[in-house]
Amino acid sequence: MKLLEDRILSEGKVLPGGVLKIDGFLNHRLDVELLDSLGKDVAAHFSNQKPDLVLTVEASGIAFAVMVAKYFGCRVLVAKKHRSVNIADDVYTAKAFSFTHKRENTLVVSKEYLQAGMKVLVVDDFLASGSATVALLSILEQAGATPVGIGIAVEKSFQGGREKLESMGLDVYSLARIADMDETGVKFVR
Ligand code: 5GP
Repeated sequence: MKLLEDRILSEGKVLPGGVLKIDGFLNHRLDVELLDSLGKDVAAHFSNQKPDLVLTVEASGIAFAVMVAKYFGCRVLVAKKHRSVNIADDVYTAKAFSFTHKRENTLVVSKEYLQAGMKVLVVDDFLASGSATVALLSILEQAGATPVGIGIAVEKSFQGGREKLESMGLDVYSLARIADMDETGVKFVR
C-alpha cells in the first residue's frame, strides 16, 4: 500500500537489531486518518470472510486492529501479555517470544470472549518471526475458533514469519512488505 510505504520512507527509522521505528504514527502517537485507511484496506481484502471478531496483542496492535474491526462492525479481542505464571483456569494462554523486548511473554485471553465456531481475523502491527501470530493462532485452536486470515500493517519479509503462517495454509495480507532494511534505508518487496 503506497500510502503506508511512503510514510515509512518519510518517518521511519531503522534501529540496530532489525527493528523499524514508526511509532510516530502507528502505535505510540497515532495518526488516526492513516490508521483508518489501513483498517479499511485490510477489511476490503478480507470482506468475503465476514469475521465475528478481530484478535490482536496488546499494546501496539490495538489501534490498527480497532480500525480493521470498525469496517467489519465487530469487536476487537486484545490478548494480554503476562510475565507471571499465576494464570487462572478461565483463560486460554500461549507463549510468544517478544521480538522487540527479547523475552518470552504469556499471551492471555479470557475464555468468556472466545467461543468455539467463531470466525476470527488475526491482526498485528508487525510481522517478524511470526511468534506473536502463531501464539494467537494457538489460542484460537484451544478455543475451537477458526482463523480466517492474518492482517498485518508492516511485514519484515526477511524474518520468516510469512513462510511459517503460509505453511499453515493461512492467507497473510500485509500492507507494506519490507524486503530488506538497514540504517541507510528500507527496500520494499516488489
Ligand atoms: P514476531 O512475533 O512476528 O517476531 O514479531 C511481531 C511482534 O513484535 C509485533 O507484535 C510487534 O509489536 C513487534 N515487532 C516486531 N518487529 C518490530 C519492529 O521492527 N518494530 C516494532 N516497533 N515492533 C516490532
